[in-house]
Amino acid sequence: MQMKQSQFDLIKRQLKRLTAVEGGFYQKKFEGIDIDGIQTQSDFEKLPFSWKGDLREAYPLGLQAVPDEEIVRIHSSSGTTGTPVIIPYTQRDVEDWAIMFKRCYETAGVTKLDRIHITPGYGLWTAGIGFQAGAELLGAMAIPMGPGNTDKQLRMMMDLKSTVLTATSSYALLLAEEIAKRGIGERIHLRKGLIGSERWGEKMRKRIAAELGVQLYDIYGLTEIYGPGIGISCDDESGMHYWDDYIYCEIVDPKTGEIVPDGEIGELVITTLRKEGAPLIRYRTHDLTRFVLGDCACGSQYPRIDTLIGRTDDMIKVKGVNIFPSQIDELLRDIEGASSEYQVMIDHLNGKDILTLFVEREKGADSEQLEHEIHRRFKLKIGITIVPKAVGIGDLPRSEKKSTRIFDNRY
Ligand code: ZN
Repeated sequence: MQMKQSQFDLIKRQLKRLTAVEGGFYQKKFEGIDIDGIQTQSDFEKLPFSWKGDLREAYPLGLQAVPDEEIVRIHSSSGTTGTPVIIPYTQRDVEDWAIMFKRCYETAGVTKLDRIHITPGYGLWTAGIGFQAGAELLGAMAIPMGPGNTDKQLRMMMDLKSTVLTATSSYALLLAEEIAKRGIGERIHLRKGLIGSERWGEKMRKRIAAELGVQLYDIYGLTEIYGPGIGISCDDESGMHYWDDYIYCEIVDPKTGEIVPDGEIGELVITTLRKEGAPLIRYRTHDLTRFVLGDCACGSQYPRIDTLIGRTDDMIKVKGVNIFPSQIDELLRDIEGASSEYQVMIDHLNGKDILTLFVEREKGADSEQLEHEIHRRFKLKIGITIVPKAVGIGDLPRSEKKSTRIFDNRY
């Protein structure tokens, strides 16, 4: 994607400021790099990436790029593995985040008249308060529930006539099921759902939408970059618009770090354009997506990234093509006679990669026909030739973890 002049100017301003912070994170990281020498987009693309590991090393406040008196709040990403990451925010950062979140609501057609039921958590986590600040800036009524206590959630939802639900996909599904179970659908006034953009299947999405009777929108974000609210899907449901006056996005090959051609899948890399407290330059999100090219039918001029395809840790590269388990799921779903159980073996023989895909065939399906179809569609959709092998139902081991379906014997 072509960087806009306005983005380049903001990036240059950031780089100058960040490298001037004595002993700061970026002064160290960019040591020996001539910042004044960065004159073009491709110069910028030579800058080193930043990683979650950098942020952990900077714990607790090593990322802070302004004097203490300018910091008004911190947030922290859940440290399920080791040291947490702490992100300091200035007044301006907090305001900018609310502005972006307001745009998200507007993109989803939420207005001042709406009552926004907020179930994501409050506290160190960025979710709840972001949904709330955006709702208040929009002028809608925020109902700051936080997670849990389903009885109370449903009671408030009915009594206050909440019209917009904000939730994780799993919590939205739980609420939808409770509403169905209790037969209180008639007393629920929801019309829209803004759902956090963890990767969730089309099936789950349809179920939530149908049971709640709402239109769903995917909202994107991560604690390191403000939090949720830096992008959202629109009525056209063709990816998520992101706010390119606040963030600059690149899509890179997760293995090589090279920029991929526009429209191809890769890892999303984000640079903050205006963040003050803890700006990030070329931050690797580990989220896999692609740019959605062309204009959106909704009329929004903000560019789009696709709904998240997965995490980089899931990716495999075969015959020079990046493949993700979610693509295989999707491919098999459309093939008659193929069950959703499969296993992938990758070998390297005589200088060539060989991908063997074992698929359980449903009762009555013809093995040869099924293999032929899988072979054809794999070539068509993913672009490589594979060796399909149909096996009987129950022949493949069952596992909770998706990643254990892929066996890479090449290294
Ligand atoms: Zn759109």
